[in-house]
Amino acid sequence: MNKKITETVTNTLGTQQDEVLSRRTFLRGTLMVGCSLLVSAALYRSAPVLADTGVKKLAQSGVKYQSHPNGTSKCSGCVNFIAASGSCKLVEGKIGPDGWCMLWSKKT
Ligand code: SF4
Repeated sequence: MNKKITETVTNTLGTQQDEVLSRRTFLRGTLMVGCSLLVSAALYRSAPVLADTGVKKLAQSGVKYQSHPNGTSKCSGCVNFIAASGSCKLVEGKIGPDGWCMLWSKKT
């Protein structure tokens, strides 16, 4: 009789612990997803908007922009460079023709 009670109590506690772990895991996952969304929203809002396209430009520091070429690669040879305005389709701020960043993509 005592053995049966002990088994019942053990099984009940085991089930409760599983439920607590499941809830804890669920809450942790939900919290992480929520935080990720908040951080993404904050970064998205902080980037400047191109008025006509709605595209957000990236910070120069985020793409490791430098004012000098990377070997033979430079902004003037990049598909994203806008020579007329000294700017870039993807990166914010003044962009020089001799600059370079990690988004460099050869003009075809
Ligand atoms: S190399 Fe980078 S900063 Fe320069 S034009 Fe291309 S994408 Fe823009």
